[in-house]
Amino acid sequence: MSGRLVVVGGGQAAFALVAKLRALKDERPVTIVASEASLPYQRPPLSKKYLLREMTLDRLLYRPETWYSEHDIDIRLSTTVTRIDRGQKHVTLSDGSVLGYETLAFATGATPRRLPASIGGDLAGVYVVRDFKDADLLAEEMQPGRRALVVGGGYIGLEAAAIARTCGMDVTVIEMADRILQRVASAATSAIVRGVHRSRGVDIREGMGLHRLIGDNGRVTAAELADGSTIAVDVVIVGIGIIANDALAHEAGLETANGIIVDSYGRTSDPAIFAMGDCAVLPWQGMRIRLESVQNAVDQAEAIAAVLAGSSEPYDPKPWFWSDQYDVKLQIAGFGLGHDETLVRPGQREGSVSVWYFRQGKFIAVDAINDAKAYVTGKKLLEAGITPDRAKLADPDTDLKSLLA
Ligand code: NAP
Repeated sequence: MSGRLVVVGGGQAAFALVAKLRALKDERPVTIVASEASLPYQRPPLSKKYLLREMTLDRLLYRPETWYSEHDIDIRLSTTVTRIDRGQKHVTLSDGSVLGYETLAFATGATPRRLPASIGGDLAGVYVVRDFKDADLLAEEMQPGRRALVVGGGYIGLEAAAIARTCGMDVTVIEMADRILQRVASAATSAIVRGVHRSRGVDIREGMGLHRLIGDNGRVTAAELADGSTIAVDVVIVGIGIIANDALAHEAGLETANGIIVDSYGRTSDPAIFAMGDCAVLPWQGMRIRLESVQNAVDQAEAIAAVLAGSSEPYDPKPWFWSDQYDVKLQIAGFGLGHDETLVRPGQREGSVSVWYFRQGKFIAVDAINDAKAYVTGKKLLEAGITPDRAKLADPDTDLKSLLA
């Protein structure tokens, strides 16, 4: 039996790693060191059903406590790794204890960027959404008639805006870039999503920064925007991106660059140490990227578990994402990074549409809006490495299945 695996972090990737390891009948001793007080839980519902109070914390948990003891997994909650000694192969924990390892795995995730205190980011009533405690506090504030300002038009901002509006709040979204979802989607998809929010009464202002938040008695009451206008607000939701938690790895002398650099087996610059999920920078199609998604956290972790159990299969990411906003389901297969062409295809049903991405003539991703057929077909085309005929794809009468022939 191999020596101890110590997993730093207790989120989605950490759980996927140890669950897969045990499923592969690898019985090595495992310790998870988790900074949060809760057992590993799913994060996607935090800006969706959980925020709407349609889901409880026990339903977010991947497994109950008994599962960890039954699978002989030592999990230390509310504990952090404070130091790594790579020479001695041991870690020091926040409770002062020292733990030896044969293999170390970083699943440290990322931290949401916050607004600086100098512009009111520390006022009461200003929230980020990353863990269940953030969502619990924000949910309390979501009352009909109150005014929410959402800073950042990425997935966090837009999903939270949809929940706030569903709760009957007046919602304004400001996005500094010239369009919402600029980092992750095409202009065509941004336009569709913008339309969805505007039709529900959300005030979306693009190319608009925040100058400062104004408070009264320590609580936010207004926001001064970059154009000099001031709006009254009761609650501010900040979704301005995340920063990879790579400081501990950096201090330990591992190679980092806005994340922990790994090879296609998830190995860092120290072969006894792996990294996965939001904290890892991985090779992909000649680039080095971080894939900020649940798909990557789980699939990369499972691929690393297989490597630990003896596989020599590299991790080949097959990115997919989804987002729920109101009754609209956005499903994305592939990764549109660097696209130079898009094609918009109307779907069969009212409100269903898909956006197809190409790079140098090659099909690379699809965004399907209430269009499961487009998503499934796009995913299969990507898996088969097929670039569909543009004319056929653009014709709404084409049966999508025929594109796979
Ligand atoms: P994000 O995708 O990086 O989006 C943040 C947006 O805020 C960017 O468009 C950014 O514009 C903008 N921004 C930055 N500073 C701003 C400011 N001061 N005022 C106004 N806008 C500003 O990050 P996120 O939405 O916070 O999400 C965090 C992470 O959770 C991401 O990895 C996201 O993919 C993930 N997540 C995923 C889902 C999903 O897949 N459904 C749902 C929720 C969260 P610039 O690019 O110009 O800086």
